[in-house]
Amino acid sequence: MRSRPSRLLPLAAAVPSAVVVGAGTFGASLADRLVTEGWAVTLIDRLGPGHPRAESGGETRLLRFSHGPDVLYTRLARRARELWLELGGGVFEERGVAWLARRPDGWEAESERVLRAEGIAAERLPPDEGPALLPGLSPAGLSHVLHEPEAGVLHAARGVRTLADRAAAGGAHVEAAAAEPAGGAVRAAGRTLEADAVVWACGAWLARLFPDLVELRVTFQQIALFEAGAEWSGPGWVDFDGPWYGHAAVAPHGFKVCHDADGPPADPDARPLEAGEDAVRLARGYLAERFPGLAEAPLASAPGCHYSLTADSNFLFARHPAEPGVWLLGGGSGHGFKHGPAMAEHAAAVLAGRAEPEPRFALGERTPGRKLRTAGSS
Ligand SMILES: Cc1cc2nc3c(=O)[nH]c(=O)nc-3n(C[C@H](O)[C@H](O)[C@H](O)COP(=O)(O)OP(=O)(O)OC[C@H]3O[C@@H](n4cnc5c(N)ncnc54)[C@H](O)[C@@H]3O)c2cc1C
Repeated sequence: MRSRPSRLLPLAAAVPSAVVVGAGTFGASLADRLVTEGWAVTLIDRLGPGHPRAESGGETRLLRFSHGPDVLYTRLARRARELWLELGGGVFEERGVAWLARRPDGWEAESERVLRAEGIAAERLPPDEGPALLPGLSPAGLSHVLHEPEAGVLHAARGVRTLADRAAAGGAHVEAAAAEPAGGAVRAAGRTLEADAVVWACGAWLARLFPDLVELRVTFQQIALFEAGAEWSGPGWVDFDGPWYGHAAVAPHGFKVCHDADGPPADPDARPLEAGEDAVRLARGYLAERFPGLAEAPLASAPGCHYSLTADSNFLFARHPAEPGVWLLGGGSGHGFKHGPAMAEHAAAVLAGRAEPEPRFALGERTPGRKLRTAGSS
């Protein structure tokens, strides 16, 4: 894979090469990015982009700018929105996100300060104006609603497939195969692939591939989507102190309700592909309180998924300490989807030697915390 300078031909700039393993939001975004920057790219995934067993599978994800007081992730999300819009294909729907604040001075207020400082549109609405924004909302007990009109909903599996397709159209070799590390190279489909850069973007499996370097807590998370007509259409929503999140009706998937407490430990190869009845009952209990008109709505679907959680909810992007050409990318921590293309932009700049890796994404000990998630309580 490594391009060799020829003695017979005039000197031309060597095309850098990369193997990216894992076609979730991080890997597919990076492959796509590197192709646009002129790299020769191979993208390998044993399940294929957007598979329901991957963390980036399933139908929808929220794109929000609010990250409490955190400026880095606010900017990353803002940049990601531009890149998702540029990708096109209806992957990003600008529906807005409504934060159902239970306190006047909580995480939402901290977020609002950062949004205003960054020039990102934000509106603070009194609770009784909430239902006009979010159909069927019961605003009882809310302090206010923070509306991010330029945030919205991403079509997840379609998004990673679109990224992988665009990378392929740009010349990437996209392959379905299980890969394993072989020193600084990649062993897949009976051969060894070498490249200038090898990036392992394997989601929850990263900790299995590099157990001495990467520690991830993998948990089973459950989603409930209820049948709801166009009159229930509206923005994404987050009840940070609940902790609950979801979105108003998005055709054809329905009205989404997820509990953002950490689920039980999960094996990503064996966890159920569907949520359990208890999780659906819990979601109905929340609907009865916050969206009572939907409490009896028929269930549309109830997918299962998993989180790959770092100790402090920061992502991971770091060079392998023993293999200079090998990089590890992941640690989505329950909030990584939206950031894929912007993380890829950072990673590509680092791989090309234009930037230093962000220290918060480094390997090594981290102080436990969940401050970047939409879950203010467990
Ligand atoms: C229920 C739920 C709701 C969420 N909501 C949001 C949200 O609203 N907003 C948001 O931004 N984020 C959200 N997230 C988080 C987000 O989905 C993840 O952070 C993100 O998808 C992680 O992507 P990834 O690329 O790291 O992993 P993955 O998508 O799992 O991709 C890793 C890929 O690596 C492949 N792979 C693994 N090992 C190998 C191997 N040895 N060889 C070849 N291929 C391999 C796998 O097949 C897989 O396709 C949510 C997650 C869940 C579970």
